[in-house]
Amino acid sequence: MRRGLSLLGHSIAIMALTLLTQLGGLAWAVALVFARGTLRRLVLFLAGYAVLWIGASFAAPQFGRVALPCFSSAEAALSFRSPLYCPLNRHYVVPELAAVTVDLAEHMDRVFPGTKTQALDAGFPFITGFPLLPHLSHDDGRKLDLAFYYRDEGGYAPGQTPSPIGYFAFEGAGADCPKVWPALRWDLVRAQSWWRDLDLDAPRQAEALRWLARDPRVEKVFVEPPLAEQLGVWGPKIRFQGCRAARHDDHLHFQIAP
Ligand SMILES: [Zn+2]
Repeated sequence: MRRGLSLLGHSIAIMALTLLTQLGGLAWAVALVFARGTLRRLVLFLAGYAVLWIGASFAAPQFGRVALPCFSSAEAALSFRSPLYCPLNRHYVVPELAAVTVDLAEHMDRVFPGTKTQALDAGFPFITGFPLLPHLSHDDGRKLDLAFYYRDEGGYAPGQTPSPIGYFAFEGAGADCPKVWPALRWDLVRAQSWWRDLDLDAPRQAEALRWLARDPRVEKVFVEPPLAEQLGVWGPKIRFQGCRAARHDDHLHFQIAP
């Protein structure tokens, strides 16, 4: 009985780590086979995951994905909002998308010197069709989420977002959606009081949206229509993701054509 339960527990751990990081489940399975005892397994898991993580950064380009910069300096125009994205392997895109992202960050820094463009969830290093949950569409390296730009009382707040991971602080500019099921459209009403009080930096946000909508490599950009309207941005590439997908008045999503 105990053995059965522990096997079930390990199976759940392998599945959860695979869904969260793509490679973590493999590291857990290796630790399970080659080490005895919780501490030894944990050490082997961490060591194995570190090896796989480093190996992925070298191997992924052979499979058409590259890592967005994880170790950028404080002054860099492009970085990840949270130190969690890279260790979890959620920072891979196709080279064309990496180029668009770097170009956007450089453009923003040129137009508004000192601007930091911050990436959120991108994609896993391997296997087209392997979704990066909870995003159903981030499965081919051609999609990337970006944090909004914010300001506090002192003006533009580089590197800051109301929530520590850059998601889920809604601007209250969501489309009027009926409650449908199943839907990934979360309002997270209670969480809104947890976040830092920052205002959207409208000029920067509008400029980034306009640049993305203009760039011929970009296929579409998801942002809630009321927010796009507030920012005075429109165009055929600025789209509404629909009422069944996550809200986009806390971050933006863009993608390049296949
Ligand atoms: Zn997205």
